[in-house]
Amino acid sequence: MTYTMIIFIFATIWTSYAHEIKEKGLCTWLLWFIYSFITFSAIANHAVCMITSVKPQSLQGPSCPKCQNPKDRHVHHCSRCNTCIYKMDHHCFWVNNCVGLYNQKLYILFLTYIALFTSISAALIFLSKILCSFSNDLNFCYLQESWVLDLCKMISLIICFFFFAFVTYLLTEQYDSLLTNLSQIDRLKNLTVNQPVPLKISLEKIFGGKLSIMWILPIAARKLDD
Ligand SMILES: [Zn+2]
Ligand SMILES: [Zn+2]
Repeated sequence: MTYTMIIFIFATIWTSYAHEIKEKGLCTWLLWFIYSFITFSAIANHAVCMITSVKPQSLQGPSCPKCQNPKDRHVHHCSRCNTCIYKMDHHCFWVNNCVGLYNQKLYILFLTYIALFTSISAALIFLSKILCSFSNDLNFCYLQESWVLDLCKMISLIICFFFFAFVTYLLTEQYDSLLTNLSQIDRLKNLTVNQPVPLKISLEKIFGGKLSIMWILPIAARKLDD
């Protein structure tokens, strides 16, 4: 459903602007490339987040009575996945997987790219309306008279607003988690921290190292030692 929604909005925007883009220069193509990259990244991060294993690896300690995986204080058993999860944040129905330390980067990237995708898409839909209300000379304005395209734009706008609000809420939860170094499970257990963790340190831990191109790519984070 998520992929259908993204492709539907992308196709609507492409249909609206295709004629205009073909005749413009490098700058328009560059902007279109960035928009396409954001669209692809939203889908790719969702897919990789869904298939990344979040089970604990090479841990020493007593076994979990429910799934027999090694268990230490950073490990929580998820009853929906029926397995133990390393540094579990929460079980996410949207990615059909638990979010833990090994895929939290992909989850945050997915939410961020969806926030960017929905806000840029909504802006492009408004822009096409505004441009054509001032001048009908632009190549794509003849398309604005199509009621099918108008309907697709209305549906796209509704989806964009709904998902932008939803992912913004989820991102604020992740931001809290980064600042406090407490997962949602930790907060449910009423754990607290003595002092806030610098955002840079939390990000490096979750994104698997110092700031690099790897931070924005749909690749699971390198596993760092605690
Ligand atoms: Zn378990
Ligand atoms: Zn789970």
